[in-house]
Amino acid sequence: MDGGKKVWVPHPTDGFKLGRIVDIGADSISVEPFDAPGTTINSLYDRTFPAEEYDNKDVEDNCALMYLNEATLLNNIRIRYMKNQIYSLTANILIAINPYFEIPDLYTSATIKKYRGKSLGTLPPHVYAIADKAFRDMKVTKASQSIIVSGESGAGKTESTKYILRYLTENWGSNSGPIEQRILESNPLLEAFGNAKTVRNNNSSRFGKFVEIHFDNKNMVCGGFISHYLLEKSRICTQSKDERNYHIFYRLCAGAPEELRKKLKLAPPDQFQYLRKGNTQFFCSRQTEKALNQNRKSQQYLKLGSLNDPVLDDVRDFRVCDEAMTKMGISDADKSGIFMLVAAVLHLGNITFEENTEDTKGGCKVLPSAEDSLSASAGLLGVDREELRDSLVSRVMQATRGGVKGTAIKVPLKPSEAASARDALAKAVYGRMFDFIVESVNKGIPFNASTSFIGILDIAGFEYFQVNSFEQFCINYCNEKLQQFFNERILKEEQALYEKEGLNVKRIEWVDNQDCIELVEAKGNGIFSLLDEESKLPTPKPEHFTSEVHGRNKNHFRLSHPRKSKLKTHRDVRDDEGFLIRHFAGAVCYHTVQFLEKNNDALHASLEFLIQDSKNPLLQRLFTGEKAPTAKTAGKLIFISVGSKFRKQLDVLMEKLAATGTNFIRCIKPNLKMVDHLFEGANILSQLQCAGMVSVLELMQQGYPSRTQFSELYNMYKRYLPPELSRLDPRLFCKSLFKALGLDDKDFKFGMTKVFFRPGKFAEFDQILKSDP
Ligand code: ADP
Ligand code: MG
Repeated sequence: MDGGKKVWVPHPTDGFKLGRIVDIGADSISVEPFDAPGTTINSLYDRTFPAEEYDNKDVEDNCALMYLNEATLLNNIRIRYMKNQIYSLTANILIAINPYFEIPDLYTSATIKKYRGKSLGTLPPHVYAIADKAFRDMKVTKASQSIIVSGESGAGKTESTKYILRYLTENWGSNSGPIEQRILESNPLLEAFGNAKTVRNNNSSRFGKFVEIHFDNKNMVCGGFISHYLLEKSRICTQSKDERNYHIFYRLCAGAPEELRKKLKLAPPDQFQYLRKGNTQFFCSRQTEKALNQNRKSQQYLKLGSLNDPVLDDVRDFRVCDEAMTKMGISDADKSGIFMLVAAVLHLGNITFEENTEDTKGGCKVLPSAEDSLSASAGLLGVDREELRDSLVSRVMQATRGGVKGTAIKVPLKPSEAASARDALAKAVYGRMFDFIVESVNKGIPFNASTSFIGILDIAGFEYFQVNSFEQFCINYCNEKLQQFFNERILKEEQALYEKEGLNVKRIEWVDNQDCIELVEAKGNGIFSLLDEESKLPTPKPEHFTSEVHGRNKNHFRLSHPRKSKLKTHRDVRDDEGFLIRHFAGAVCYHTVQFLEKNNDALHASLEFLIQDSKNPLLQRLFTGEKAPTAKTAGKLIFISVGSKFRKQLDVLMEKLAATGTNFIRCIKPNLKMVDHLFEGANILSQLQCAGMVSVLELMQQGYPSRTQFSELYNMYKRYLPPELSRLDPRLFCKSLFKALGLDDKDFKFGMTKVFFRPGKFAEFDQILKSDP
């Protein structure tokens, strides 16, 4: 790095800032930023990056940058984003920035036609180009393909997934035949029950999914199948500030026809405890204010109460969801069963408890004001009201007399324990119902003999919040697995490309995260194992679990105590309340207080008994196949491990992914305000790091990161050269040129179609040529 050279230096909000080197010290570089002449910034060597000569020019493929590094990558994405070009490529990985507005003509049927059959790189980068590549690869190799869409909440994963589905079904479906229609129709349905408004996304999916589109031997769409992962169940009972519960609750309250409202005893959403926790105030942007005023005037607003969200039209959306259910082939009886369960959950939430002062054994009773809710939920669940009351305020335990296990006895519960039992019941009912809906969707998609499939994975990316619990632990574990897979695949692809182009390059090495994966999933001392073990103890304790995690993994590089962390936000977590894991994307401190309860999907025995005796036919179906509690298990709290189930699902998924050709789409959220044309550089940089993009760049630095077509070089440089040279064909032209300039052949390689440069060498070559033609 020479004095006077143009470089990028780190900046707290923009990510990087452009300036010129004014001094080079022993361990840092002084840089004068262009936008603040006379001032200097000191920057570390390894955080200072060479800038492109034309820092305002963008390229479709980041690999065409002369200097490929974090800063130039970020800058290229920024320039393109400002021009509404939201897509770019880096070695076949598509980077997509959420534009937060509809870009004209970007997704029309005409655009779909345009991309059909075109190789990646022929047209501007697009999700359609990736979908088409997956299809062509499937056709040529006869192997199934997958597209892994990742990114943080609100980055545009689900929308991208929908565009891909539309691309595939529109091109290779039988023109809105029942299969295509149902595949597309499954989205509004799943979103109604599995999406909610959060502070990060008004329509945030709270579950992961893998959608397979199946093709027959003529490569036409012949079926579909959806697998789902980790529905966020805590949301059913409580929501963070300014967030909502699942859409369906509000839609049902707002949009149910009169007769149904009466049957389900519905009321405006703000009268249900389970919908009030987020206490959603309106976020009034000017746009939404107008909608709000219209809403206020309308009759609907009265029905909705103050929890109506003006951005979302619950009344219309209820109709859409209701129609989607019919179109999916869900019978009227099942539909009505589903609505009954949704309403039952709402009424359950209104059952509140108080201490029972008359009872000498302590315990609690249902508040008199909640008696109606008790009756309503019992009615909808198809169980006896008194039995429901009993199962909520007490638990059956096994008495032990003289060391011998005896008959079951009833133990009264404290009000808080009864409330937990109630919440567990609500979550179990809703969770099973969601499984049932996905199952119905799958049954509703006709399926003929399939030869191969294209699977699209839409799952939450790496997460770290102020407080991180079991949900973040599971999702980050999943992302570690996907990251390992990503590294392996990208490497393989890089190496395959070098081979295809006939380059002779040594193997690339990379940092494996297997140690982190093992810390979580190993049998015995792995965190999931320790958690399950703790749950099986007579009195499981979060503190004991936490100390086991630390004690059994002493000196593990990836694990530490929260106290030792320099991260300010983690100071309030005591050592026995959590642990810190160094993930590939950064360190995260997990708060373990609720790990045990969140890892357990079981209801206590009396509730399980109660539900299995339900007269509600749908509920009965949802809970059959369950191991019925027996006299032997009646005393124990049955334990169903959420973690084990997820790990099994993830194993199946990883196996499937490993057997397919893969494509990656990295979605990026441009800003926290969810508005268009606002590029928050530092935030975006950290997303690129979390998505493993920065490590991809590091990886590529070992090989030949910059690459360009012969024809492109030819067009770029022919005007600098004598006409005799420019008469040659592009490949020969480049060869002669490189020879004439006396370039070191360690710095570049000639492939079949492209020249590949070692890091920084493309720019050097460019300079030699322009300064000394
Ligand atoms: P994620 O699934 O990653 O949480 P979504 O796909 O739900 O995010 O996107 C969040 C919101 O961003 C969408 O509801 C939509 O308003 C907007 N959005 C996402 N992708 C696009 C796009 N390609 N064009 C326009 N708006 C988009
Ligand atoms: Mg989503």
